[in-house]
Amino acid sequence: MDLADMLIKKGVLKNPRLIEAFQAVDRKYFVPKELKSHAYIDEPLSIGEGQTISQPWTVAFMLELLDPIPGDNIMEIGYGSGWQTALLAATGANVYAIERVPKLCEFGKRNFEEFFKRGRGFYFSARFFCQDGTLGLPEIAKKIGGFDKIIVAAAGEKLPEAWKNQLKIGGKIVAPIAHSIFEFIKNPDGSFNEREHRGFAFVPLVPDKK
Ligand code: SAH
Repeated sequence: MDLADMLIKKGVLKNPRLIEAFQAVDRKYFVPKELKSHAYIDEPLSIGEGQTISQPWTVAFMLELLDPIPGDNIMEIGYGSGWQTALLAATGANVYAIERVPKLCEFGKRNFEEFFKRGRGFYFSARFFCQDGTLGLPEIAKKIGGFDKIIVAAAGEKLPEAWKNQLKIGGKIVAPIAHSIFEFIKNPDGSFNEREHRGFAFVPLVPDKK
């Protein structure tokens, strides 16, 4: 059984656009060679540098909350393997992906490009940045009038101000904080509505030292 079917059976994957993305983007291309045989198991896997490619169930859960749609400008923090970057891009979103560990910056970008070369008739739009994601991408945010959505794969203690500022009114952030996944929606007055989903484990969000 493939991953998409498994995630549908488990009840976490529902959105037709995301089902298509999970069917199109093969996780095998985003895991290290020696772990290819584990690519379709619902577990996080080591990608080196003390980091992991996230568990499929968690990726599906977060993407369902994010609800990426074609044309969305989405900032992704902690792209690691590039798998989620490709899933986002497969929905038709423009992805601005940030990773801070140089070896993984290369790994994820290469995986994405290798996969992209295989074509599959999709138009993928992603740009990769190798830097501290807690600062966001202020210049790009300014140019495009703010991100529609932000998704984060590493857990901090609180939401960095930069992400709040770089999000459009009505935009949404899906981010882990400590052991919960939060949804934050930006109100017209700049305040945020939040919703918490408890019981997750993430690698830590590591800001660059000042
Ligand atoms: N979506 C990725 C998850 C990788 S784990 C995947 O499924 O492959 C989370 C990633 O966040 C790690 O690669 C880690 O290096 C990165 N990370 C942690 N702190 C960061 C920061 N401040 N800026 C950018 N990336 C960060």
